[in-house]
Amino acid sequence: MKTVKYILLVGDGMADYPVPELGNKTPLQVAYKPNMDSIAANGKSGLIKTVPDEMTPGSDAAICSVLGYDPRVYCTGRGPLEAPSRGIKLSGNDAAYRCNLITEQNGKLLDYSAGHISTEEATQLIDAIKKAFDQPGKIEFYSGLDYRHFLILRNFINPDLIDCTPPHDAIGTAVSAVLPKAKSPEAKLQAKLLRDLIEGSREILRFHPVNLAREKAGKRPGNLVWFWGGGRKPSMPTFKEKFGVKGAVISAVDLVKGIGAYAGMEVITVPGATGLANTNYEGKADAALEALKTNDLVFVHVEAPDEAGHVRDYKLKVKTIEDLDKRLLGRIIKGISEPYTIAILPDHPTPIKTGTHSRDPVPFAIASPSLKPDGVKQFDEDSAAKGSFGLVENNYLISILLSVNNM
Ligand SMILES: [Zn+2]
Repeated sequence: MKTVKYILLVGDGMADYPVPELGNKTPLQVAYKPNMDSIAANGKSGLIKTVPDEMTPGSDAAICSVLGYDPRVYCTGRGPLEAPSRGIKLSGNDAAYRCNLITEQNGKLLDYSAGHISTEEATQLIDAIKKAFDQPGKIEFYSGLDYRHFLILRNFINPDLIDCTPPHDAIGTAVSAVLPKAKSPEAKLQAKLLRDLIEGSREILRFHPVNLAREKAGKRPGNLVWFWGGGRKPSMPTFKEKFGVKGAVISAVDLVKGIGAYAGMEVITVPGATGLANTNYEGKADAALEALKTNDLVFVHVEAPDEAGHVRDYKLKVKTIEDLDKRLLGRIIKGISEPYTIAILPDHPTPIKTGTHSRDPVPFAIASPSLKPDGVKQFDEDSAAKGSFGLVENNYLISILLSVNNM
């Protein structure tokens, strides 16, 4: 049997609703993207549901689902899913929380990202927090990128028993109203510990030189820590065990790399991959080609369209799709010499209209030497809806991708 290589390309948040400024077309419909269109034209398309009804739409649930891991089982929280990318080791009874540096003003939660504080500044603030609160083996803070940090509580109660509000969902709310709360009496003490750490951080951060300098420069200070996305580490069967293929993941985003790490995939870090529109598209393409020399499948994730959706910039969103098409997808197609099967899709829509994730099914297209074209010519929301896969509700994209050559 000839070896077939598999390429799975996810443009985060790429799908959208019609945008009035784009003549009521979606960014995917307006963007010049000959490579994505050729996947649709040479293969088959459809719509797929990536977020279960009972879950919040987001990349955590959607990426697990795309990779064939039931998000209801394995999507245990942003904390545990992102932690491995920072080299944090978790054992079964540990609780991992995301710890944001946020801005509190007049008792209200003003900014979930402390004005997108830089990693350099944030590291100094988290160092001060560590100095005050770390008790190795019990309470451990870890700094990450920009405003995104971690609190690991060793041998802690199951975080499912404590209600923690994501800071991006509480903008403008009184901080006192959204502090961690026990959902059951047995978690009371642990919820209080989380509240005490948050309250305690205020004194340490308020007059920290980094924050004084930020305020002087008219920037928002990181004057409070905030815990959310807590959970235990998921125990996943490896990708190889599940699907019998060896996979690698390429992404700038801790969440995606973390899911890949739990799945036992090779996690590849590409210099200059940023998660933003300025990401190193060519570098990711070259890394994907390199990864395919030793792997059967490469999963390439590009965050930029999602970020453009969040800031509701339709021009930027179109550009990120065009860059992804030309600089990444085109370069992979040009560079690959073996027969390959390829899929393109977003994980979830991030519509310009709302600036946030939606749970609508996403368009996908798969091309392979063994797949007969279904007549769809373009890759976009409306075209994919007419594809021969129809609306897929109870299957995973990866399962479809890996089975098309047996169809
Ligand atoms: Zn997003």
